[in-house]
Amino acid sequence: MAWPAPAAALAPAAALAACLAVGAPAAGQSGSTLPPWTPGTLDIHHISTGQGNSTFFVLPDGTTMMLDAGDANPPGRAPIAPPIPDASRRAGEWIARYVQRAAPHGRDPVIDYAVLTHFHADHIGLVSVESPSSSQGDYQLAGITEVAEHVPIRRVIDRGWPDYTYPEPVESPSVANYRRFLESRRQSDGLRVERFVAGRSDQIRLLRDPAAYPSFEIRNLHVNGDVWTGVGDATTRIVPPLETVPQRDWPTENHSSLAFLLRYGAFSYYTGGDLQGVPPDGYPGWHDQETPIARAVGEPVDVVVIGHHGSIEPANPFFLSTLRPRVSIVPAWSRTHPAPVVLKRLLNERIYPEERDIFVLEFRDETKAAIGARGDRVASDHGHVVVRVAPGGESYRVFVVENCTEAGVVVRTYGPYVGGRGEGEE
Ligand SMILES: [Zn+2]
Repeated sequence: MAWPAPAAALAPAAALAACLAVGAPAAGQSGSTLPPWTPGTLDIHHISTGQGNSTFFVLPDGTTMMLDAGDANPPGRAPIAPPIPDASRRAGEWIARYVQRAAPHGRDPVIDYAVLTHFHADHIGLVSVESPSSSQGDYQLAGITEVAEHVPIRRVIDRGWPDYTYPEPVESPSVANYRRFLESRRQSDGLRVERFVAGRSDQIRLLRDPAAYPSFEIRNLHVNGDVWTGVGDATTRIVPPLETVPQRDWPTENHSSLAFLLRYGAFSYYTGGDLQGVPPDGYPGWHDQETPIARAVGEPVDVVVIGHHGSIEPANPFFLSTLRPRVSIVPAWSRTHPAPVVLKRLLNERIYPEERDIFVLEFRDETKAAIGARGDRVASDHGHVVVRVAPGGESYRVFVVENCTEAGVVVRTYGPYVGGRGEGEE
């Protein structure tokens, strides 16, 4: 399926202004669309909806994975942030349409794995009384459940299945709706559901031709306070027994996010939901999940997704100086993302001296203006960010794709970078 022609109806004045703000033509930009995925390539699409996180992976053998599908703005409420490309559809539908375009051509789009980092609305979707009902079961459509209305999902992996009781019962109308979705689709479609298990490297795997790509691996790093040790599949517990902890200090939903490290040959990629690395003053040190994760990883990582949208607590100096990202991706969407102090750390060459490029999905004009000149040092401030890794993982490029239409126009291209934390060239 080809990228469709731009639809004028999808480019109202405000969205068009955002498109133009991506910047004047620069070296390496083409103005053309992203060539289709081909076997052996690894594509990682960070989809910018302005409503939360959603990342779509096409793995080297064509296995597909969605990581989160947020929608923080349900119908009938004032939006927290402007929807992208516009308000004519909800985020789940925009995400599903993106997947239909970016999935491997020549077969019906399907999501083999839907992996949810944690249960906040900007990662799974927020329902309101006005959210539409599914035509396929007794639940409403928002975020991940809305994606599933348009693209079949084979398997869901989350941090709570089957009982959703850690660290205390996860109870909200949106989570109740999500659980009704799981039950309904298990009955009707044979949907499989699993809890993410820290330490494993065989829970998310290539399903179509794994023998052809033996260097591909997804290592589960953290969930619910269990963190990989870096040795075999072993894990250790970073949260003390809850009965010894005052309830006000219990781990939050963000602290419980799942994280993984993807490797493909020399290439590596880290992502970890809304995990944090700098506990606020007065909080226990174990509210820092990034330090034990960085110890387990123990080496540079090519592409790092910055936790918690780049808001106040992620990307501590030890984490950054261990992973030394060549490319950082900040999944920002609200006006508090990224926080000035986090952007300062990401740019700080005393923390690590090597070259780096920082891509912000939606760096809102007022946030960027408040940050000042440092805000101009990011590689991109609007748009979908696509990491395309060459067969075997030897090199990769980063494409910034305009997000104000569905045309898939590449506005800038970065790289090729050498896998294994190599230096880039433009
Ligand atoms: Zn979040």
